[in-house]
Amino acid sequence: MPMMPPQSSTRASGGPHPDQPSDVARRLEDVHRRIAGAAERAGRSPHAVTLVAISKSFPPELVRAARQAGQADFGEARAQELARKVEALGPGVRWHFVGRLQRNKVADVVGVASLIHSMDRLKLAEEIAGRAQRGGRVQRVLLQVNTADDPSKAGVASGEALAMVAKVRELPGIACEGLMTMPALDADPRPAFAQLRALRDAARERFPEVQHLSMGMTGDLEVAVEEGATIVRVGEGVFGPRRADSS
Ligand SMILES: *Cc1c(COP(=O)(O)O)cnc(C)c1O
Repeated sequence: MPMMPPQSSTRASGGPHPDQPSDVARRLEDVHRRIAGAAERAGRSPHAVTLVAISKSFPPELVRAARQAGQADFGEARAQELARKVEALGPGVRWHFVGRLQRNKVADVVGVASLIHSMDRLKLAEEIAGRAQRGGRVQRVLLQVNTADDPSKAGVASGEALAMVAKVRELPGIACEGLMTMPALDADPRPAFAQLRALRDAARERFPEVQHLSMGMTGDLEVAVEEGATIVRVGEGVFGPRRADSS
């Protein structure tokens, strides 16, 4: 075993990176325990929550280790990195796309990602739908909602979410199956999660396929599960601290 540097100097110096596959298996177990605890408190089944391991910035070896430990769903935030990881990992992995998606990158993601969490404008939905249709598929997406109503953040304003779902629904080649949000970093996430859930409930009354709530990350997954998340997106909790120079 190499000597570990003292905890206090870790983040600034960029290490230690948890390059040990055994660390990933242990961390995965810990995340599953956290999900199960929150589900139990909320009277929900832990099986109603899908863990997507967000592997952005982490090397393929760690993804492989997580896969071997039983993790099936992984998420990336950049089209190019998604392509590299897909190539490195091969079949047997279900990929998700969670990052900002430019229209000129849609071709690299449609049909590769089983679920795109970050559809947030009609032009993008049209591009996704057209691409999927030409490939003879239906691309599953979630509508990203800007629950913080912060114009610098991605996502449709919550007041526009239902109208957007209705419009996307008219397009062939795309299926909007739920909502996703990223709460403001410096605020209590619970109101944002509760708001997303209320929006989902309202949407589902008119459009029964709108089922999913993608919300909760490493720092707030318990709150998200308590508020009804069906998908949590966890990066550092599964793979260890991300290097300071990557995001
Ligand atoms: C990076 C990222 C996550 C995971 O964040 P962690 O804090 O590492 O758990 C979740 N969702 C999105 C959209 C991300 O970009």
